[in-house]
Amino acid sequence: TVTRTIWVLGNWKQNLLREPAAQLAEAVAAGLPGALGGVTGVRAGIAPTYLALDRVAPHTGDGVAAPRLLAQDVAAQDSGAFTGEVGPAMLREAHVSAAIIGHSERRAQFGDTDELVARKLASALAGGLDVVLCVGERLEQRDAGEHESVVISQLSAALAKLPPELEPSRVAVAYEPVWAIGTGRTATPEQASSMHAAIRAWLDAEGHRGADRSLLYGGSVKPTNATELLAAGDIDGFLVGGASLDPRSFLDIVTCAA
Ligand code: PEP
Repeated sequence: TVTRTIWVLGNWKQNLLREPAAQLAEAVAAGLPGALGGVTGVRAGIAPTYLALDRVAPHTGDGVAAPRLLAQDVAAQDSGAFTGEVGPAMLREAHVSAAIIGHSERRAQFGDTDELVARKLASALAGGLDVVLCVGERLEQRDAGEHESVVISQLSAALAKLPPELEPSRVAVAYEPVWAIGTGRTATPEQASSMHAAIRAWLDAEGHRGADRSLLYGGSVKPTNATELLAAGDIDGFLVGGASLDPRSFLDIVTCAA
């Protein structure tokens, strides 16, 4: 039997100055052992802005009941003449253990094409970071019945050209339908679960060991819908935006998973 880690990850986006970020991290860290209730197969993580990483880091760690520290993005290259970019070695030095890559907000507004996402993935893995790779269709693509082909093509673009030495054993996939992000409209448990099954089948078919891979769902996850999403099967946790800015909501989602 396969035991995949269940992840509950908070994506704080462009929110919180350093002091409130430190306070939120402290509240999450303080409440996490209680929210987990001794369950060890569930892990939490938080992704503040780059500038808050050093204030948040003391409240994070690799222990089972500590939140892990994530970055919201990473440069496609290690260092050099790339104004405004932050590379994987810089993130590791700031105690970051994993990066979110390919978030739909970056794809839609900051030019993160499939090609750039693939280069960021290779850069992160080569630089020793774990990765949460985000994929998801837009509303018109779902309405046209193209949701599975869109998501599989995003996955394939990111993973197909990875050099063999970067076999993506440290990649979790987050399925985030764009129409469910920040909209209050969650995918139904059946929609999420059936997409996850399709992703896992594709990973298996391509030799990426789908059974070992944590597949997260994201899109308006709250304490009130987390339990039914997890019960649908094939969903190994969540990437949480809005609800992760409130420690009680975030920790309640952790409790649903534990
Ligand atoms: C996200 O942006 O990753 C996300 C899931 O946001 P929200 O929970 O606010 O829909």
